[in-house]
Amino acid sequence: MLSIVGLGPGAASGRTLEAQRALEEAQVIGGYTPYVEPLRAELPDREFFSTGMRGETERCRRALQLSREGKAVALCCSGDAQVYGMASLVLELATGQDDVRIIPGVTAALSAAALLGAPLSGDFAVISLSDLLTPWEKIERRLHGAGAGDFPVALYNPASRTRTDRLSRACGILLSYRSPETPCGIVRCIAREGQRQEILPLEALAVRQLDMLTTVVIGSSETVEKDGRLLTPRGYRL
Ligand code: SAH
Repeated sequence: MLSIVGLGPGAASGRTLEAQRALEEAQVIGGYTPYVEPLRAELPDREFFSTGMRGETERCRRALQLSREGKAVALCCSGDAQVYGMASLVLELATGQDDVRIIPGVTAALSAAALLGAPLSGDFAVISLSDLLTPWEKIERRLHGAGAGDFPVALYNPASRTRTDRLSRACGILLSYRSPETPCGIVRCIAREGQRQEILPLEALAVRQLDMLTTVVIGSSETVEKDGRLLTPRGYRL
């Protein structure tokens, strides 16, 4: 049995009970090195394997191989197991004989939004600014779509060491649809050491340098800041 487990944003308290059970039932626990290493102390008698960034295919093949050998395997992803996670890649590599189950987790967009208030209260878009697997032109088209549709947007992978202009380009696109005053939020290291958050207008966000450990929320035309929190009203008459 291979369980693809979404661990939530960071702390063990943010895991679902189902995710916790899958970890406890596993004989082998695998995943991206920084996510798996902290689990060693918690579950010291398990077998572990991990791969670094860009080791995703190898990680999934290994997990499938171990489960074919009869082991109970938990392949861990941060947040949710589907959202820029390993679930789809495992299903691409699996055969009909493989016993695979996918255990959802709280994705970073929702954890970030909850810390900021309630900005993602209706329809919203999640867009990763990583162009490793998606051409940048397509990412720009999606940003235009979210802008035209007036979706609040959660951005993942707002920058990398090599591409530092992604966020300013994304904000530039959304600024062609939205006011420079549009309230936005930045949350770094959710449920991890050094967690911090900030609310700022879109024009200020556009000139920020962020890193990969950060999730960005950009309001729609309806999003407001109230008492230090972001919220997008759902339209109830008050
Ligand atoms: N499967 C993950 C997303 C992986 S993509 C999920 O569902 O949450 C990686 C991106 O997610 C990061 O670049 C960042 O934008 C966001 N992210 C993941 N964990 C985070 C955390 N603890 N704090 C802030 N952002 C996080």
